[in-house]
Amino acid sequence: MSGPFRRALLAPTTLAVFLASVVPAVAGIRVTFSPRTVRPGDVSLVIVQGVDDGATLEGSVAGRPLVFFTYARVAAALAAIDFETRPGRYVWKIAVLDKQGEPRTLAGRLVVDSRRFPVERLTLPPAMVDLDGETTRRADAEQGRLREVFSAVTRERLWRGRFTVPIAAAGAGTGFGARRVINGRPRSAHAGLDYAAERGTPVVASNAGRVALVADFFFPGRLVVIDHGLGLHTAYFHLDQVTVAERDLVERGHPIGVVGSTGRATGPHLHFSAAVGGARIDPAALLRLDARD
Ligand SMILES: [Zn+2]
Repeated sequence: MSGPFRRALLAPTTLAVFLASVVPAVAGIRVTFSPRTVRPGDVSLVIVQGVDDGATLEGSVAGRPLVFFTYARVAAALAAIDFETRPGRYVWKIAVLDKQGEPRTLAGRLVVDSRRFPVERLTLPPAMVDLDGETTRRADAEQGRLREVFSAVTRERLWRGRFTVPIAAAGAGTGFGARRVINGRPRSAHAGLDYAAERGTPVVASNAGRVALVADFFFPGRLVVIDHGLGLHTAYFHLDQVTVAERDLVERGHPIGVVGSTGRATGPHLHFSAAVGGARIDPAALLRLDARD
């Protein structure tokens, strides 16, 4: 009997959650999610053991495709739960095609627990909130461009091991998922983590990747998006200066620019965000991801 089973037996209240997220040894294949339970904005490392080298895997979680890669000689993928996902039980499916011939399909349910996000009330200059037609069109087009960049799935995994905080800031970032009320009116939720820091503070790449976008957009200001491969991207907004160019390869910890307050910002800070296959995740969940290669 494996370690996780023993733990489940010692703590019976966790058994239902455990069974919902792990299917043990179906046809010699074992699927585990780490972490096993998730909340909106979380990302989980899906490990599939017991498949042949060179097997083809396909799958999905909550309707979003999984992109598999080789990790510590097993197959793995990132399951990302967009932060606006409703709590509930979501179907996951994985199909394995290997030397056995017939495709083998595994399925189960992943529990997405509820999560409360803060409400933030902000007062901003009306010119940054009530946009004229031309500025609205510009901001919409820029939003579309960002969505396009975030949804690209390049085939090579460039990230390895743990993700690091992109800034030497005091304390954790704040405001992920906040429902924002700006000048008394509800606006879209905040899809990143804000780190307060002085203008000029260095900002570094959270993991290895390729610079996918360098731009100066209305709301994000000067920005960098890094493509870490297989659909995973991180983004860095409101920079004062950018010191990388599109298509540059960067390592984890490589300087990409410095903190500023460009775009819509009430003061100097770094806005750090992350997405997998377009699913917007909490960067804090990415920083907790237990990847060791
Ligand atoms: Zn922000």
